[in-house]
Amino acid sequence: MNTQVSAHISFGHSISIYYKGSNEEEFDCRMRTRRGPPDLCIDDERYRFLKRPKVQVEFSRDFFNSLPDDLVLCVLCKLSSTAGCPPDFINILFTCKRLNILGLSSIVLSKACREMLAVKAKNWSESSHRFLKLCADTGNAEACYTLGMIQFYCLQNRGSGASLMAKAAIASHAPALYSLAVVQFNGSGGTKSDKDLRAGVALCARAAFVGHIDALRELGHCLQDGYGVKKNVAEGRRFLIQANARELASVLVTCPPSWLAGEGGCRLLSDFGCNVPSAEPHPANRFLSEWFSDRTGNVIGPGLRLCSQSICGKPETRRHEFRRCSVCGAVNYCSRACQALDWKLRHKVECTAVDNGALF
Ligand SMILES: [Zn+2]
Ligand SMILES: [Zn+2]
Repeated sequence: MNTQVSAHISFGHSISIYYKGSNEEEFDCRMRTRRGPPDLCIDDERYRFLKRPKVQVEFSRDFFNSLPDDLVLCVLCKLSSTAGCPPDFINILFTCKRLNILGLSSIVLSKACREMLAVKAKNWSESSHRFLKLCADTGNAEACYTLGMIQFYCLQNRGSGASLMAKAAIASHAPALYSLAVVQFNGSGGTKSDKDLRAGVALCARAAFVGHIDALRELGHCLQDGYGVKKNVAEGRRFLIQANARELASVLVTCPPSWLAGEGGCRLLSDFGCNVPSAEPHPANRFLSEWFSDRTGNVIGPGLRLCSQSICGKPETRRHEFRRCSVCGAVNYCSRACQALDWKLRHKVECTAVDNGALF
């Protein structure tokens, strides 16, 4: 397209720009400058005499309103699937009525990504609850899982939370499958007799199949211990090694080159027990950690504890629900996977056996 652009600049503080396209369509944009020269090339000599000129843009035609809805929806879908944080998307809803209506349409909300739904605990409100619910109603698995976790653990609405997590799990959402497995293993939200180990193993197996590393590790431990499944030490060991290998592979993608060649030589050549940098927690786990760190004691309940794995954030739903470290007894974990991860990253150097003799 042979587009001609010509600019006429008059220094009565107004600039007229004329675009001539191949279709001979012409529009006029009059601009009054407020601060600094506009992007167009302006005679520097003359600009010097303009002190803080005013900017005002007037379009003779509203091109946004002439865009078809399909095109605007396409842009909004792209934005909701790539937003880095909730305000990246939410702010555009306040721009105009049209963007507000189209932005809240189900096709856009169903595409919302994990980061866009990452509500912070300190910003939790009725409206953020409503927004997550709106996204979950479109079948968005991330929204179902995030809201499910918040309802189950923070708002103590166990039934609704579990059914939202189940909705995400049906859509093969790996963290939802794994979280439901932990609920089954612990009998969370119920009594000790509500534990369903076989259901936990089945959910874990499904989560591991869709690539969840913690689930794979959990499954390995279950097989080694015969917990909810027939004991098979060799197969369990194979799963544990596979989990370590996948963890290393995921780290290789994101770690800085210096990490690979750290002290003691190349880390890839070390045993599988090497300390890999901890993975970025899911926003739902981050929410839980923030929520309970702000309100410890009030919301968790007396005698209840948080999982000691720092990026997990899950609380007990009844006393003594979580397993304790059998050596020191000072830490407790929602799952074997959390225990194994925390052991590698932190607890290995802190754990000391309780000296019963010192008590007497
Ligand atoms: Zn945990
Ligand atoms: Zn310990």
